[in-house]
Amino acid sequence: MARLVMKFGGTSVADLDRIHNVARHVKREVDAGHEVAVVVSAMAGKTNELVDWVRSMPLATGAASPIYDAREYDAIVASGEQVTSGLLAIALQSIGVDARSWQGWQIPIRTDNGHGAARILDVDGSEIVRRMGLGQVAVITGFQGIAPDNRIATLGRGGSDTSAVAVAAGLAADRCDIYTDVDGVYTTDPRVEPKARRLARISFEEMLEMASLGAKVLQVRSVELAMVHRVRTFVRSSFEDPDAPGMGDFDNPPGTLICDEDEIVEQQVVTGIAYAKDEAQISLRRLADRPGVSAGIFGPLAEANINVDMIVQNVSEDGSRTDMTFTVPASDVEKAVGVLENVRNGIGFDAIQSETGLVKVSVIGIGMRSHTGVAATAFKALAEKGINIRAITTSEIKISILIDGPYAELAVRTLHSVYGLDKQ
Ligand code: ASP
Ligand code: MG
Repeated sequence: MARLVMKFGGTSVADLDRIHNVARHVKREVDAGHEVAVVVSAMAGKTNELVDWVRSMPLATGAASPIYDAREYDAIVASGEQVTSGLLAIALQSIGVDARSWQGWQIPIRTDNGHGAARILDVDGSEIVRRMGLGQVAVITGFQGIAPDNRIATLGRGGSDTSAVAVAAGLAADRCDIYTDVDGVYTTDPRVEPKARRLARISFEEMLEMASLGAKVLQVRSVELAMVHRVRTFVRSSFEDPDAPGMGDFDNPPGTLICDEDEIVEQQVVTGIAYAKDEAQISLRRLADRPGVSAGIFGPLAEANINVDMIVQNVSEDGSRTDMTFTVPASDVEKAVGVLENVRNGIGFDAIQSETGLVKVSVIGIGMRSHTGVAATAFKALAEKGINIRAITTSEIKISILIDGPYAELAVRTLHSVYGLDKQ
C-alpha cells in the first residue's frame, strides 16, 4: 500500500464524461489499496474565460494603478477549480468511492500575500491524512490557497502542478502522479522529431532544464518544488482506458518518472534536446572594459523586467574595449535597446546591434558531468549540416547553442540523432 497524490489537468476534466473517466482512474488506485488525494484544475478553457471577465470590468474610480484589484481577481479565477473538485467528488461517490472536496483554505494550503502569483508556504496535511486512513479520498482544488490576509490567493497560471507537488510533500506521499494530455516526457519534441522516445526516468535537474526550455509538460515551479522536497513525480496520460493492462502497475506504470539521479540506473550521456524559439540577440560593440560595466547593463535590464538569458563577453584584446552579446525574448528586444540607449553615456560603447528570429537549442544530460567531448560532438554534427553557431553557453549538465530560426528543426533532429536518442 502506498500514499498517492493524483493530479488531473484542465483537458483531463474538460467535460463530464472526462470527469467520470478520471473517477475511474482514482477508483483503480483506491481498489488497489492505496491512500489517495486528488488535485484538480479547472475545466479546460474555464480559467481563461474567468480571466477575460475580470479584464473586461471597469477599474475602481480613482484607482492609482491601471490594474484590477488582485484579491477580487483571485476570488473569481479560483472558482473554476472549486467546480471540478465538487463534480469529481460526486462522480467518485456515484461509483462507490468515499470522497470529499476541499478548497485550499479548508486544508489549509497557506500562501504568501502575492495575490495572483502567490507562493505556497505550507500545507497542513493532518486532517487529510486522518481521513485517508479511514478510506476517504480528498479532492483538492489546485492553483490556490489562503494568504495571510485570510483571503483566497491563486498561484499564477498553470499553478495546479505546483499545488499537486506541494500537497504530495505536505502529505509525505510516496509519489505524485500528474495525469495530463501527453503520456510522458520525451527525448525531444515529437512534433519536430517523430523518432523522439518517451523517457522512463529523468532526474529533477534535467527536467528543470527541459521544462524551462519550453518542454511544456509541467510548470517550472512545480519541478523546482519537487526537487527541493524530493517528491517523486510521475507524468502519465489521463486519456488511456483506466483499466487497460499495466495502468495499475504501481511500480512500473506507463509514463515518465522524475526522480533523484540515484534512481536512474542506465544513465545516458545525453537525456534530451530542448529548444526555445523567438529569441533575440543583442550585441554591444567596443564596450568599455572596466569594473561595473556588466552591472551597469544588466541592472537596468532587470529593473525593466527583461529576462536576459545567454550572456557572452569576450576577453578584450587591448584591455580597454570588448564586445558583449546576450539574448532576450524577441518580444522584449525594442524595450531592451531603449533601456541600453538610456545608459549609453554612463557605460560607453560604440554600437548596439540586435537581431531577432533566433532559436536556442540545448543538449541536456547529467551524464555530461563525467564525459568529455559532448560539446565537440554537437559542433561537428551541426557543422556537417552547414548550421552556423552564433553563441554558445554551457553549464554542468547543458550546452546551449544559438542559431538562426530556419535551422531549428534540422538542428534538433541532427543533435537528437548524433547522441543516439532516436527510437530503435
Ligand atoms: N486552471 C489554472 C490555469 O488554467 C491552473 C492550472 O490549470 O494549472 O492556469
Ligand atoms: Mg497545466
